[in-house]
Amino acid sequence: MTTNDPTGRKPDSTRVLQRFSLAGKVALVTGASRGLGRAMAQALGEAGASVAVTARGADGVRRAAEELRAQGIRAHGVRADVTDPADVDRMVQEVAGDLGPIDVLVNNAGISVPGTALETSEESWREVLATNLDGVWRCSRAVGAGMVERGSGTIVNIGSMSAMIVNQPRWQPPYLASKAAVHQLTKALAAEWAPYGIRVNALAPGYFLTEASPVDQPEYQQWCVEPAAMKRYGLPDELGPAVVFLASDASSFMTGSVVVIDGGFTLF
Ligand code: NDP
Repeated sequence: MTTNDPTGRKPDSTRVLQRFSLAGKVALVTGASRGLGRAMAQALGEAGASVAVTARGADGVRRAAEELRAQGIRAHGVRADVTDPADVDRMVQEVAGDLGPIDVLVNNAGISVPGTALETSEESWREVLATNLDGVWRCSRAVGAGMVERGSGTIVNIGSMSAMIVNQPRWQPPYLASKAAVHQLTKALAAEWAPYGIRVNALAPGYFLTEASPVDQPEYQQWCVEPAAMKRYGLPDELGPAVVFLASDASSFMTGSVVVIDGGFTLF
């Protein structure tokens, strides 16, 4: 097979599962003390990466790192709040010092404050946007600077199907706005950093069972389970293979994409 690719890229003859390998890579996952972030840190570690797990709570971070190390994964826990610029800079330096330069960034830390538009305080609006949007922006820039210098890296932002639908039964306007912005920021960074060998994609999960999303409770059945084509919610480990795909060479020609994983919720 011949190629006219101006970058000189040759067809990759690496065997397909090998392309998912993250051996020798360093991954940083924000909000990784529990829930989806914890499951994705696990998946990246199982794929061979050294993994830095961060969150605000020191105990959760320490526990997550210990659990990963107990499974033979090289892991480092860093307490950091993505809403605090000084914390983010320190986090990136600490991870680079302990594990090496960051090859994979997963921007997962996120919160939601339920309430109608008129109930939502200015403070709640700011808190949600500061975490879900400013956090992604800040961590991407802090880690992206090194990736640009080195000419490689992958970033996976955790958006949401809430960028496309309005969740029920609880209203949450700041959350919906923040996730739509994350999807578009993903495309902006993908376009700008593609010339530097950096790929930026997003995952848009549907309903997954976590502490923040107790969709196994009866009151959510009608709203979160029945409308999905697959008639169930997802479990955090079901996001693992997708994040490994987007973080690794397996997705070498993908950037600026938003991959929806929702059991068919948004089909209707
Ligand atoms: P959880 O509440 O279970 O976990 C959130 C994680 O983020 C925790 O580790 C938390 O730790 C951390 N975190 C929260 N705020 C900050 C902050 N300011 N700085 C650093 N870390 C922080 O949530 P989920 O696992 O359910 O959600 C994870 C991501 O997935 C979020 O972005 C969410 O919007 C998204 N998502 C979730 C869906 C679901 O159904 N579960 C669906 C679609 C998207 P700590 O509190 O110690 O800081």
